[in-house]
Amino acid sequence: AIGVRRMARRNALVRRLDALETLGSVNVICSDKTGTITKNKMAVVQTWVDGAQSDREQLLALIAASNNRASLPNVGDPTEIALLMFGKEKGVERLPIDEEQVPFSAEAKYMHTRHDVRERRVAAPLLEPGDYIFLKGAPEKILELAGNRGKEQVLAEHARMAELGLRVLAAAVQEPGESMPKFVGLLGMEDPPREGVAKAIAEAKLAGVRTVMITGDHAKTALAIARQIGIEGEMLQGKDIDTLSPDELVRRIQSVSVFARVSPMHKLSILEALKRHGCIVAMTGDGVNDAPAIKGAHVGIAMGRDGTQVAREAASIVLADDDYATIVRAIREGRRIYDNVRKFILFLLRSNFDEILFISATLLLGFPLPYLPVHLLWINLMTDSLPALALGMEPEEADIMRRPPRHAAEHLFNGEWVRLAVATLLSFLIAFLYYFWLLRTGDPVEEARSDVVMLAIIFELFMAFGSRSRHPIWKIGFFGNRWMLGAIALTAALQVFVLYTPLGSFLHLVPLTLLEWGEILLLGSIGFLVFEFWKFFSSRRNT
Ligand code: ADP
Ligand code: MG
Repeated sequence: AIGVRRMARRNALVRRLDALETLGSVNVICSDKTGTITKNKMAVVQTWVDGAQSDREQLLALIAASNNRASLPNVGDPTEIALLMFGKEKGVERLPIDEEQVPFSAEAKYMHTRHDVRERRVAAPLLEPGDYIFLKGAPEKILELAGNRGKEQVLAEHARMAELGLRVLAAAVQEPGESMPKFVGLLGMEDPPREGVAKAIAEAKLAGVRTVMITGDHAKTALAIARQIGIEGEMLQGKDIDTLSPDELVRRIQSVSVFARVSPMHKLSILEALKRHGCIVAMTGDGVNDAPAIKGAHVGIAMGRDGTQVAREAASIVLADDDYATIVRAIREGRRIYDNVRKFILFLLRSNFDEILFISATLLLGFPLPYLPVHLLWINLMTDSLPALALGMEPEEADIMRRPPRHAAEHLFNGEWVRLAVATLLSFLIAFLYYFWLLRTGDPVEEARSDVVMLAIIFELFMAFGSRSRHPIWKIGFFGNRWMLGAIALTAALQVFVLYTPLGSFLHLVPLTLLEWGEILLLGSIGFLVFEFWKFFSSRRNT
């Protein structure tokens, strides 16, 4: 719960809790380009028209502004808002849409509208009355619809713009009485990468997480943006995916990092191929048609700002700011949460079985009972609550994004059984031998009990402190978790309080001497010291 709140403050809203666990295993992020990697604040920065007349450019602006469902200042698709701005700059008057014959979709990649001009319009550009059809969309599509006239030149101009990373749309018009649209020109829109994306991609890479960019945009545009932000690797287009068999796609998937001109349907094929390759995939999406891929991914991520409700409902995580970098932050936080849950559970396991051994051993040997029921309650109340909770507040480890993702099949106790056994035996032996020695040297049983109860608590406080990290404490610093320091101080103060006030008789505890405290602190720190050196030597062996 603490982790989820922290994530929400950093714009990652967790809808399904199990996503937190999976986040730590993610090794591929499939991210949309437009809006997630880029800013989605577009602007037309270049145009090209077929024939250099200025009224052609006016017509281009008119189509851009009229074949358009957005409205200024900022309602609608950012692509279309940019086109409206462009129309305004050029001073054209937007024509109302009479019929949206082909609405824009990520599959069709173009849009087709009819405009009925009833009277002679004097507003620029000059239009005779009649039915006009405006088209805009992906240049290949528009060229095809306009009969491919002048294709070579258009494609050359398109390539020139796309190589700059511009998002390129083409426009065409079908004038009254004509049977076919005529190509009008190209609009090049700038949509630069967000700040921080390049850094986040590098961070993910270091953490063993590959970033794959998926876009409906043109191959050249996609590659130009990918290279700007440090995504390497090959590119594949939607039409290539259609010709590859699923097996071939699986074989190639590991080397491809950019998918261009894809439809939402292709996202599913990409996801399937990655899954069959054994990848743990986080997949982003915003549209209604993205929902199946979001749902099918190990971690489905939807856009909170520009996404659809359907996509959000399919997702486990919603990005409030639509930002790629937030995904990497969520992975980081997910790893921290998993680490801390693990520390918490291992600490509780390591410090609870020894009591069973201790009591059984004394019973078998006919000794007086070392802990009364109220003592067991007290020990567990003291050590399993505050210090254990403080482990949940532990800051992330320094190397959290420099280690590979956790293997998905890895058990929570992976490699911990030996340590668990050693902690239990050690704690039991120390307590048992101390108790035995106390009774042998003639201590009354009440005093011996108070000693071993305090020993159990101090031993566990030390162990809690040592459970903070997989690294020795002198590497991570003593003061990194003030919650832990507070929990230990408070718990220790409570012991002093119950021992030296009348409350002690209620708990059947008697005051201890300074000498006894010395013994308890010494014995109580043994477990901690053993584990710190263990960590130290095993990390030296590994590096
Ligand atoms: P992405 O969001 O991955 O960039 P889209 O599916 O939004 O991809 O767009 C794919 C292509 O469709 C764009 O490259 C562009 O050519 C065309 N396109 C995008 N938005 C519009 C629109 N509003 N009207 C017409 N065509 C569009
Ligand atoms: Mg889009």
